[in-house]
Amino acid sequence: MKKFIIETYGCQMNIADSELVATVLKTAGFEQTNNIDEANIIIFNTCSVRQHAEDRVKGRISNEQARKRDKSDLIIGVMGCMAQRLQEELLELNIGVDFVVGVDQYHNIPNIINDHLKIKTDFNHQEVYHDIYPTRKGKFNAFVTIMRGCNNYCTYCIVPYVRGRERSRPIDEILKEVEIAGNNGFKDITLLGQNVNSYDYDGIHFPELMEKVSQVESIQRLRFVTSHPKDLSDELIKVMASNDRICKHVHLPMQSGDDEILKRMNRGYTSDHYRQIIKKLRTAMPNIGLTTDIIVGFPGETQEQYQKTYDLMKEIGYDYAFMYKYSPREGTKAAEFTDQVEEKVRLERLKEIIELQREITLQKFKGQIGSVKHVYVENISKKSDLELSGKTEDFKIAVFKGEKSLIGTFVDVEITDATSGTLIGKRV
Ligand code: SF4
Repeated sequence: MKKFIIETYGCQMNIADSELVATVLKTAGFEQTNNIDEANIIIFNTCSVRQHAEDRVKGRISNEQARKRDKSDLIIGVMGCMAQRLQEELLELNIGVDFVVGVDQYHNIPNIINDHLKIKTDFNHQEVYHDIYPTRKGKFNAFVTIMRGCNNYCTYCIVPYVRGRERSRPIDEILKEVEIAGNNGFKDITLLGQNVNSYDYDGIHFPELMEKVSQVESIQRLRFVTSHPKDLSDELIKVMASNDRICKHVHLPMQSGDDEILKRMNRGYTSDHYRQIIKKLRTAMPNIGLTTDIIVGFPGETQEQYQKTYDLMKEIGYDYAFMYKYSPREGTKAAEFTDQVEEKVRLERLKEIIELQREITLQKFKGQIGSVKHVYVENISKKSDLELSGKTEDFKIAVFKGEKSLIGTFVDVEITDATSGTLIGKRV
């Protein structure tokens, strides 16, 4: 029996796709292994969001081709965004790639392997992988894909070019997958898509989908990622606020605090619109956890425009932020803008906002002292065998003293201290 291993890079979407491909292969009679030494098939699930991500995985593939000296039947495959973007180029690099498979062709991976095919990367704008219910890694948190692709064409982003047009999965299949995950012990479910707020299947939109999924008996918590500020509706806020199973956390990419830059990014909202959504979310759910994505050094960003991002971060006070300096991606509109910001300036701005966010996070986490959090216990803490760690409803890690037997259960924890990444508490 052929054994395969999948090495995954990039976002949650890729992690979910690796689970999907593993299920496709296992159904076709292949066996999954976690030990690369015993694998006959190594598949790299790749990311294209930054050049660095592509270079890193090319380096990894190149290293692994040395194994072919001792194992002549070893097959190396590449899937995911970089496979879709570079296609034949990956075969021509001479780094040992045997096959390249695009994001809408995962059904065909068993045939590609069995028939020694080299490449299959055609787009299929309807592909949502009907009736595949992935077997999952991990124990407690399951990511369930509800849609694929993106129509937004933010000018810095490669995703619409490599993932194709937006399409939503049928609601029945989503409900079935959530139910199976819940029955297998995954009590915390995250609905996943590039822009979940534009979910639309047969006239059912995202708020209604959330309501329906939250009623699945076998689960206890429901989250979603990623939201787009132009599509996050009042209806969704109402549903979130009134439903105990929906976690009070939103990841809402702000990207920039300056309207001109937002326009050049083609984000479809202004900083004021963004502020209004935050206000509505906090009015409806005063303790909501808020996280975001920020890009600094976008082409043409002046010091003044950058300052607006810095100021808006301060004004909103996110619990956490994923921060990046702009990285040009070939094939996107922004990469062609002629007013690229000097690398040194991008880096300085990035360092400055990272420092700002570190202070804000610490302050936000310290602000939780005295509160009681409902924690889904997932692990023994990294620092001590006597402590457990888990996730709060508002997406923070909490650590407290407790017995191993509590892993997999929900407990109330009173927060007594905090660092800029962890809440520390005691069970109540
Ligand atoms: S919404 Fe914008 S940033 Fe997000 S995947 Fe689509 S194009 Fe990329």
